Amino acid sequence: MIYLDHNATTPPAPGVVQAMLSVLTDVWGNASSQHPRGQQAKRALAAARATVSRRLGCKPAEVIFTSGATEANHLAVLGLHAAAGCERRRIVFSAVEHAGHLALARALETQGVPVDFIGVNPDGTLDLDSAARLIGTDVALVSLMAVNNETGVRMPVDEVRALAHAAGARLHVDATQFIGKVPFDFARFGADAVSLSAHKLRGPKGIGALLLRQGSTLVPQMQGSQERRRRGGTENLPAIVGFAAALDRLGDIETEASRVAELRDTLERELQRALPDMHVFSACAPRVAGTSYLRFGLLPADVVLQRMEQLGVSASSGAACSSGGSEPSHVLAAMGVPRDEALAAVRLSLGETTTARDIDYLMAALPPLLAPLLGTCAAHAA
Ligand code: PMP
Repeated sequence: MIYLDHNATTPPAPGVVQAMLSVLTDVWGNASSQHPRGQQAKRALAAARATVSRRLGCKPAEVIFTSGATEANHLAVLGLHAAAGCERRRIVFSAVEHAGHLALARALETQGVPVDFIGVNPDGTLDLDSAARLIGTDVALVSLMAVNNETGVRMPVDEVRALAHAAGARLHVDATQFIGKVPFDFARFGADAVSLSAHKLRGPKGIGALLLRQGSTLVPQMQGSQERRRRGGTENLPAIVGFAAALDRLGDIETEASRVAELRDTLERELQRALPDMHVFSACAPRVAGTSYLRFGLLPADVVLQRMEQLGVSASSGAACSSGGSEPSHVLAAMGVPRDEALAAVRLSLGETTTARDIDYLMAALPPLLAPLLGTCAAHAA
C-alpha cells in the first residue's frame, strides 16, 4: 500500500510505539498519587514534558497536554475569550480553519458571541486587507491556522500577530499542520497560544497540547488539579510519552522538507505532463512541502480515489473529516472555486514514509487509468 494521506494522520514511528508500550506495562501509576507508583509516573510525566518543551522552544509550564488539537483549539478560544474583558467580545477566525474549529465558531455565533471570518484570496492565501479591517479594539482574540490542512498553504502568522497585538487582542495559532513540517520555536513564534497534535508527526492519536505563553490568563474548560489547574483529568501518560518520543525523533526538518518538496513537485510536474487537464490548487502560493491538492478535469473525486485504490494508493478528497460527504470543501468555496471543480478535488499528502519509488509508481500507473475517463468527461462537457 502507498499511503499519501499524511495530513489526515501519520503512521506511529516504531520508537514511539515502544516507548508507549513500556509505559503501559511498567509505569501505570497515577501521577497525582503520593506512593512510589504514583511518584514514578510523576517523574515520567515531568521527563516527557521537559522533552516536549525543549523540542518546541517553550517552558515546561507553558505546555498544557490535551486530547489533541481539537481540544487545544477549544481551550484556547473558549479560555482566552472568557478571560478577556467585557469590552472585548469579538472573535476573529479565518474562513478556512479546520472543520471542527469552524463548527466551534458557528456554535459561539449562535450563542450570541460576535464572530468574524477573514477571507482568503483565490490562491488560498489569507486576505490581509480583510484581516486589517476586521481586527479592531473590540476583538478578544484572533484564531488562525499556520498551515491549511487541505491546500498546504502557509498563513501569514507574523502579519496577523502584528495586527492582533496592535489592537490589544490575543493571537491563537492552530499549528497542527505546521509543526514537524517547518522549524518551530514557541519563544520566537510570538503567538499567545499554539495548538498541536501528536498524530500528525508520527505520534499517537488522542494527545496534543496547547502551548500558552507565560503570563496569559486562560479560564479552564475542564476543572481539575492537573496541568496547573488549566486542564483537569488524569494525564494520559502513555500517549504523552509517545508524543514526547515523536517530537524527540524529529531530525533536520528542513532537509526532510526539501526531500518531500522535490517528490511533490516531480509528481505534480509529471502528472501534468501526462494529463494536461490536471489542475493544482494553490500551486503558486507558499505551501508546505508534502501537500498536493489536485483535480483531474471535472472527474469527481470519488472516481479518482477509486482508481487510486485499485493501484493500492490511499489519498483523500479534501479534509478527511469531511470526505465521504458530497458537500464541496469549505476551503475551496472560500477561495471562490466553482462547485463542480471543488467536487473534483483530491488531496495527496506526502510525508516521512513516502519514497521516490512510491512517486515513480504513481506517476507511471495513474495516467493510463485516468486518461480514458478524462476523454469521456471532455466529450460529455462538449
Ligand atoms: N487542526 C488542523 C489544522 C488539523 O489538520 C487537524 C487534524 N485533521 C485538527 C486541527 C484536529 O486535530 P486532532 O485530530 O488532534 O483533534
